[in-house]
Amino acid sequence: MATTLSDDHQLLIDAVRDYARAELISRDAEWDRTESSCCADLTQLYEMGLMALRVPESDGGLACPMLPYAHIIRELAYASPAVAVTVAVHSMVCEVIRMFADESVRDKILSSLAMGGHLSAFAISEANSGSDPAAARTRAEKVDGGWRLNGTKMWVTNGIAGRWFIVLARTSRREDERDLSMLLMDAEQDGVTRRAIHGKMGIRGSETAELSLEDVFVPDEHMLGRPGQGLNVALSALDGGRIGIAAQAVGIAEACLDAMVSYSREREQFKRPISKFEAIQWMIADSQTEIAAATLLFERAAELKESGQPFTSESAMAKLYASEMANRVAYRAVQVHGGYGFVNEFRVEQLYRDARVTTIYEGTSEIQRYVIAREVLRKFDEA
Ligand SMILES: Cc1cc2nc3c(=O)[nH]c(=O)nc-3n(C[C@H](O)[C@H](O)[C@H](O)COP(=O)(O)OP(=O)(O)OC[C@H]3O[C@@H](n4cnc5c(N)ncnc54)[C@H](O)[C@@H]3O)c2cc1C
Repeated sequence: MATTLSDDHQLLIDAVRDYARAELISRDAEWDRTESSCCADLTQLYEMGLMALRVPESDGGLACPMLPYAHIIRELAYASPAVAVTVAVHSMVCEVIRMFADESVRDKILSSLAMGGHLSAFAISEANSGSDPAAARTRAEKVDGGWRLNGTKMWVTNGIAGRWFIVLARTSRREDERDLSMLLMDAEQDGVTRRAIHGKMGIRGSETAELSLEDVFVPDEHMLGRPGQGLNVALSALDGGRIGIAAQAVGIAEACLDAMVSYSREREQFKRPISKFEAIQWMIADSQTEIAAATLLFERAAELKESGQPFTSESAMAKLYASEMANRVAYRAVQVHGGYGFVNEFRVEQLYRDARVTTIYEGTSEIQRYVIAREVLRKFDEA
């Protein structure tokens, strides 16, 4: 399978890398320190087309294939894990709209998300339904010309600045998963109340919100897919989204490794740079090896998705391995810094906290293992 990038895509990735390393690292530290949102600062990303990566050219997007897209998320995450997840969630929602929205709605909304400065969000989780999205309680009642949404959503990334939200809701009284539908909601209307969730351990520059919906109107043509298909729409979005989170985790790990290498060459103990000690070299070697393995996993999942082949298990493996790997590498990075890694004078302190969430959102590691094992067992049964 080809995992090579075209010259144009490589140039784009290089441009993102230069921009992110020059502009985002210090801003990310400031967002973290003040717990303020990076979403107020996305103008340059819109100008560079980075909010339109997965939008077709006909709607003003870059139509970026999955492989370079994932490398762009990786480069953003190296500099700002918060910006990376903001772009990854927005891109995932753009893709859901492209795949499932009615043509009349699709073009108008995608071009506003690509070029109009509008941000999008994904509202599946609720206080009592996280790993089990089929337990969602938010309800959409049929009314003349559309649906009326009532309920509360939790943990919505881009939930404060976002304009277009995809919302998972029950549309009948069957109370099973066939009862769930996905609706595209304009969040700028009466009945939508957003509350920022503060006190997060990491990615503090990324917005996370609780969303309360009271009689919020969604027109009929904003149903994504058919009524009752909502869980399929959500799971298909997450399959692709997990490639982005795997790439985000690799970017965080690479930033940790670079910090570890540079510090270990400067820091002297026992009259030698600590990089001369075998124990430190093993941490560097293990980190480099695991980053390479995680990169191959997300590249493989991205190529399968792009070529229209099944990739559910591959994206789960990429997300599982990369996110757990990022936590191991971040742990080592702090360890190599000794006491200095424990205070925020060095970036590894923040990266250690930022890495933590990658094993949780878009499906915990336990859920990824469940997805992978289900696939292995299915193949065994079929053999
Ligand atoms: C910063 C942040 C941003 C987020 N952004 C979004 C977003 O944009 N949109 C959105 O919809 N959601 C979002 N989420 C929610 C996220 O996807 C959920 O937190 C996650 O799916 C886990 O759900 P939960 O927190 O309810 O944990 P629970 O589902 O309650 O899980 C608790 C523990 O039980 C384990 N567990 C649960 N079920 C099983 C099982 N069957 N087998 C084994 N172990 C199991 C879990 O792995 C976990 O360890 C975000 C979360 C965070 C923290």
